[in-house]
Amino acid sequence: MAKRTQDDRPRLSKIMGRDEKGQRTARSTDVYLPKEGLKEVSFCKKCGIIYRNKRWILDAAELETVRSDPQAVKVVCPSCLRMNDNNPGGMITLSGEYLVQHESEILDLIKHKEAYYRNKNPLGRIMEISQEGNVLTISTTEDKLAEKLGRDVYKAHKGDLHYQWSQGEKFVRVNWAR
Ligand SMILES: [Zn+2]
Repeated sequence: MAKRTQDDRPRLSKIMGRDEKGQRTARSTDVYLPKEGLKEVSFCKKCGIIYRNKRWILDAAELETVRSDPQAVKVVCPSCLRMNDNNPGGMITLSGEYLVQHESEILDLIKHKEAYYRNKNPLGRIMEISQEGNVLTISTTEDKLAEKLGRDVYKAHKGDLHYQWSQGEKFVRVNWAR
């Protein structure tokens, strides 16, 4: 059974593995992307990622070239805008006795995986990691990153994993416990 939250917003709860492809497409419209689109080449003046060929890339060497190109447009990327607004696309909550015993190991895994996914999609980032009592909360800029990190913890450490999607918006709550 999927866990319910106290939040009264309509949600679609699901257990890992159920196909939800159609809904993912619907959620892929990011409110932080300008409707008129971005000029090529653009780069984020905050984090330095580059927008080229309709996608964002992380490339330090390339950034040097882009910075010195007078045609290149300085922007703030959707991920930095979200961080600035403190408006996460995903929230992961980790709890349980096992977590207390393996906390640093699990956090290392999450940070390592974030870096790995960031190379593929530099818009997906951890915003904040906070701890209250024995519960760890990790916010991410993108729903997909929260989903992947939750799955990675589950794969490596078993336990219980639940996803709760908000309908009509691009937000996922990931709960893992062991
Ligand atoms: Zn940025």
